[in-house]
Amino acid sequence: MEGRQGSLPYNNSEQAKAEHFNNRKGVKYMHNDRVCPKYNEPVLPNENGNCTLCGEEIFNVISVYSLQQAIKDGVLVEAFDEQTEAFTAKYVNGKPVVATTHLFNQVSHADLLDLWNRFIVWRQDIMPTLREEDRMFTTEINGKKVWVDETEAVVTMMYPEDY
Ligand SMILES: [Zn+2]
Repeated sequence: MEGRQGSLPYNNSEQAKAEHFNNRKGVKYMHNDRVCPKYNEPVLPNENGNCTLCGEEIFNVISVYSLQQAIKDGVLVEAFDEQTEAFTAKYVNGKPVVATTHLFNQVSHADLLDLWNRFIVWRQDIMPTLREEDRMFTTEINGKKVWVDETEAVVTMMYPEDY
């Protein structure tokens, strides 16, 4: 049984990886031209085409690679069935929970549920104590590192290399 501390291996190398991931995340969940994901307010671009609220570069909605498209393309799958999702949604403001197809095919349903439970404990007890840029849940399933990433729109379970 892994202790809570054991599921938070935040050494410098982990942090560097998380930062790298966050930098690349912009490619996948780009700032659209409707709502600022950071402030949840309608956005206006400044003279450089960046968000006046958070400074991120703004992309047209049509160029955003959507969750639905990622599922359609087989990159992501819904992590849980409808009944389980009704339960999980209560903990993450109704956001969908998805997994990379890679992870989903390698682990059992029980593994995903266990991962979810560990994430929720971390989210409630540990996450609020971390700086925003450090808020990436890291743990292991069957000796392999997995991440749970929560954005404004979705919770994604993945192997680090899936990015
Ligand atoms: Zn913004």
